[in-house]
Amino acid sequence: MAGLQCPLRLYNDVYRRDLATPWSDTQQAIFDRGTAIGELAQQRYPGGVLVGFKPWERAPAIAATRKLLDDPAVPAIYEAAIEHRGVFVRVDVLVRNGDGWDLVEVKASTQAEKEVFQLDAAIQYWVLTGAGLKIHRAGVLVLNRDYVYPGGEYDLSALFRLGDATEFCRDMHGQIDQQVDEFHRLLARENPPEIGIGDHCFSPYECPYYAHCSEGMALPRNPIDHLYRLNGRRREALQDLGVESIDDIPADFELTAIQERIRQAVVSGQPWQSPDLARALAEAQWPLHHLDFEAWQPALPPYPGMRPFQAIPFQFSLHVEQADGKLVHHEYLHEESSDPRRPLAEALLEAMGETGSIVVYSSYERTMLNALARDLPDLADPLLALADRLWDLLPVVRNHYYHPDFQGSFSIKRVLPALVPDAGWGELEIADGQAAALAYEQALASNDAVYRDSTFENLKAYCQQDTLAMVGLLGALRGLCEAG
Ligand code: SF4
Repeated sequence: MAGLQCPLRLYNDVYRRDLATPWSDTQQAIFDRGTAIGELAQQRYPGGVLVGFKPWERAPAIAATRKLLDDPAVPAIYEAAIEHRGVFVRVDVLVRNGDGWDLVEVKASTQAEKEVFQLDAAIQYWVLTGAGLKIHRAGVLVLNRDYVYPGGEYDLSALFRLGDATEFCRDMHGQIDQQVDEFHRLLARENPPEIGIGDHCFSPYECPYYAHCSEGMALPRNPIDHLYRLNGRRREALQDLGVESIDDIPADFELTAIQERIRQAVVSGQPWQSPDLARALAEAQWPLHHLDFEAWQPALPPYPGMRPFQAIPFQFSLHVEQADGKLVHHEYLHEESSDPRRPLAEALLEAMGETGSIVVYSSYERTMLNALARDLPDLADPLLALADRLWDLLPVVRNHYYHPDFQGSFSIKRVLPALVPDAGWGELEIADGQAAALAYEQALASNDAVYRDSTFENLKAYCQQDTLAMVGLLGALRGLCEAG
């Protein structure tokens, strides 16, 4: 799989693993989640036997697998270890099926049809059949996004969905054959292949060698990547013209309206401001309720009525700002393992009052409010009434202001420091939403009261900063209009 993404990645994986950047806590948490789902998926095939051993203990793992394959009393093998022509695989589940086997590749996802997953199964299929096994069916087992958890033990036959990949695996057989030959030739070389960084470094997976490969690279000033939503066609057209920097884009080159504004701001070194900014800001009604939710997205539904990967808001911060500048803060953080949705929704409704815009930055809070209204039917009317009061600051910024320091992004983490240089998240332990969700999940799972309390304090500080950022940003934009 590494070689299909990039030959250099494969070369590094085999010979220069030490060049990889260690996985971040968030990435590690994603891997751990995959492991946990894999273990649960094994229970869907009862009576199976696990082939243990450490990842590097290949020979004993292969020998143990051989024994299990030959034992007709074994209905399934978990983590079967097989090798063929130098390609070694651990198969999540092999299920005995008559005179052969079914191959099951487990993914912590809901998309069994994703090509990269099917490819993973196809490589295993190639190894297994090459090693002499008869494979009747190959499939990708994922979580079923339509499963609604009724509580109690999971019904594994309903929680998981098996997407068939047999035909894909068979079709890919010849291609994988050739690819493996090519990889052997690559790995026989003394020097690594020369490959430059590009989009392939992030697709289908983020490559752990990116820091190494990009080290010391001279990046152009104002790279064309800073053009908002630059599509492949325009990127290629610019590359064909030899243009790497926004400064060098020909004046007659066709850009979108936002991209053109970015170009003007970058070339002039001055922010761009629409004459309608003040009018757009005046649409927000006082008192302003600056609202931010934090949510986590567990793969396995923890509470009845939930589906796999459903987002669960566990925290909000709310700054209520009066026209005279008075600011009052409200917050809620669910500090226990029970379902946070109802207490959070009730606390929110109590803090919101009846009038004034609810200022948000992105459509996320609308999605959360609609989901809460769906899940708590008795509170649906007042929650949907809140959704009606939402006022999104993000499109206002996107359509009416651009500062060269935004670097092509309208994320509040990029926008705020450009307009309010002293503000930011730099000093905080938790500095983004993903880290917040991970910290929350880990705190809930911990029995260490001190760790839990300090994590909860960090979460409050982070979420509060998010709503303060909106207060600061809106104030800065109003200031620009008054000054202009
Ligand atoms: S960072 Fe990019 S070029 Fe370097 S090994 Fe990874 S995918 Fe290949």
